[in-house]
Amino acid sequence: MGTGIPAAARQRWSELADAINSARVSYYQHDAPAISDDEYDQMYRELVELENLHPELASGESPTQTVGGQKSEMFEPVAHLSRMYSLDNVFSEEEMNAWLDRVEKSLGFVPDYLCELKIDGLAVDAVYVDGVLKTLATRGDGVVGEDVTFNATYIDSIPARLTGKNVPALVEVRGEIFFGLAEFDRINEEQLRIGAAPFANPRNAAAGTMRQRVDRRLEELSAAEAAGAKRADKARADVEHAINRLNNVQLIVHGIGAIDGITITHQSQAYEILAGFGLPVSPVMSVRRSNAEVLDYVSHYGIHRHDVSHEIDGVVVKVDDLDLQRQLGETSRAPRWAIAYKYPPEVVRTRLLDIEVNVGRTGRVTPFAVMEPIKVAGSTVSMATLHNAYEVERKGVLIGDMVFLRKAGDVIPEVLGPVTEVRTGTERAFVMPTECPACGSTLRPEKEGDKDIRCPNARSCPAQVRERLFHLASRGALDIEGLGVKAATALLDCGVVADAGDLFLITDADLFTCEFFTRDPAKDESGAQLSENAKTMLANIHAAREKPLWRVLVALSIRHVGPTAAQSLARAFGSIDAIANAQRDELAAVDGVGEVIADAVIEWFSTDWHRDIVDKWRRGGLRMADPVIEVGDQPLSGLTVVITGSLPGFTRDSAAAAVTELGGKVAGSVSSKTSLLVAGESAGSKFDKAVSLGVPIVGAEGFTALLESGLAAALLLQVQ
Ligand code: NAD
Repeated sequence: MGTGIPAAARQRWSELADAINSARVSYYQHDAPAISDDEYDQMYRELVELENLHPELASGESPTQTVGGQKSEMFEPVAHLSRMYSLDNVFSEEEMNAWLDRVEKSLGFVPDYLCELKIDGLAVDAVYVDGVLKTLATRGDGVVGEDVTFNATYIDSIPARLTGKNVPALVEVRGEIFFGLAEFDRINEEQLRIGAAPFANPRNAAAGTMRQRVDRRLEELSAAEAAGAKRADKARADVEHAINRLNNVQLIVHGIGAIDGITITHQSQAYEILAGFGLPVSPVMSVRRSNAEVLDYVSHYGIHRHDVSHEIDGVVVKVDDLDLQRQLGETSRAPRWAIAYKYPPEVVRTRLLDIEVNVGRTGRVTPFAVMEPIKVAGSTVSMATLHNAYEVERKGVLIGDMVFLRKAGDVIPEVLGPVTEVRTGTERAFVMPTECPACGSTLRPEKEGDKDIRCPNARSCPAQVRERLFHLASRGALDIEGLGVKAATALLDCGVVADAGDLFLITDADLFTCEFFTRDPAKDESGAQLSENAKTMLANIHAAREKPLWRVLVALSIRHVGPTAAQSLARAFGSIDAIANAQRDELAAVDGVGEVIADAVIEWFSTDWHRDIVDKWRRGGLRMADPVIEVGDQPLSGLTVVITGSLPGFTRDSAAAAVTELGGKVAGSVSSKTSLLVAGESAGSKFDKAVSLGVPIVGAEGFTALLESGLAAALLLQVQ
């Protein structure tokens, strides 16, 4: 190393190289990362930047010069016929443009690019000699990988023999082994069930699955069976488990290595030929003829990332022409003719500061994780539910642990599990309380065998009363803006209301007795008038009196009665009295209701203080029956509408309610019976389905026309 490098830079270089190498061991050898991919990528980028400033640091030992994986002792080594590389990454449109410019500069023109998905899986290399699978190997260090050929027998998407005409003497292909999303979730469930740590991402799950010595386990099983040993059962279960996982992995081929006996000129043409031999290739790859078209592909899958049936962490862009690929060449780690555009991370690592419990509106006591706030999939997360004490135990998390946290798109954040490698011994186990933290009642399951425990003090537990009040104001219920958790707490603390029943009886004067509703810090006025928030709340309480019956039903906090069941009940019975007086079988017979909900409704109305709430709401002016609508007033009757994506001014529930209030039916999925698809921003796979079935599609404008003037008006505004 040159002497001109400042000591601090050299020191930082060593720190980063050590940290990256140690992360690689956990990730590639143990298939159990100790840091998140985002943390890894950030360290890696810092190392690259440091080496750009001080090129002497970029020695052959630097992680920037090596592919990453290592050959392990666990498997026989297999030398790849041609080298396997990693990929360089870009993380923004700006960086993508810089890469496209570099390629253009090197070649002197803009080449065609093949765009495909970057599958979050494990890279493998398959060699076919005279059409027969000879070896399947992991990437290893890029030169020598691990022999996992035996496992290929159990993977349907890896043909043992190529099919089709003119099968060449030699084909070496590269591809990704991966799990579909549903399978990944199932496998993690299974990991928890058998007491093993869940996989942090589908790639580790795929790697953990491929890197199993199934051949040895089968030998052990035979030996145990031959000896009539007791442990034969365990060995058999182990083998079945391993094989079942292999049965469920998939392969998609995304590259070619050594070939003999065929001529290939373009990567896209290679995929066509390989598909002809029975090898699985990507169904969504696309050749793009300009930089702008490449960026379109990148942004399309940025939006539709979750419409793909497997996890992707980005897209890969490759120069399509193989001669041009050769001309651009490779560095020691990655080709110059390809780049991975990585989307923002969805799995991050953060500290579990505490596990607290929350008492819900139906008394359910739920532990939840309190974490150091962290940005994931576009939002900052600091809390995640842990469901119940069994779940905390199953996940194996201790208070003080570093944990992996996942939040994919709109999905609710989920703690995946602990990073046990970095435990210090100061972590402590969570103990589920035996008494309600809000009212001191002894907690108990509702019935024997229930995993959830509840506070039985339904009527007056302050937490339950507060949650019910807060719930009735939510968007899916009476939608009372201004009545959030803080306002609900203030109403109760000041004694303005004793419970949800009193809400529609309150007056302006009542609110003056509570400082929360008079103080307006923004204007710095001291109690002379109601705050803006209080006025909003009062106006919305007033507006709630005219809301349809189903919203009133949701607002009552009857167990299991959400918007869908409430709409069915409202449609079938028309008034609260009819529902309260209905027999169990009448309720259960309603489409979308059933026995569980019928029981919950009967039970709810048989409790005195519940009926008191209904009476008070009636006195408070709430509409307890839907007006009888003539069929002529139901312009959408007979129509089935599917709603997808976000529509300005509507939540998913309120958009659906607007349709059902006009007599239309709202369905969850597109079929040939769908009359119309309303596709808002970021509409997903339903859009494609509707196109393929010829179902008319409208956007936000068409939706407004539908509600205001009916189907014919909406169809004039079709977007497809
Ligand atoms: P990479 O995953 O960023 O990209 C290269 C790989 O992409 C290829 O080997 C191939 O397997 C895969 N790939 C998927 N779809 C492809 C397609 N359509 N075409 C071509 N290749 C495709 O690089 P890498 O060297 O395998 O791994 C580095 C990455 O792994 C890091 O950026 C980080 O995200 C992760 N990592 C994490 C840790 C950790 O501790 N969390 C440690 C090491 C690596």
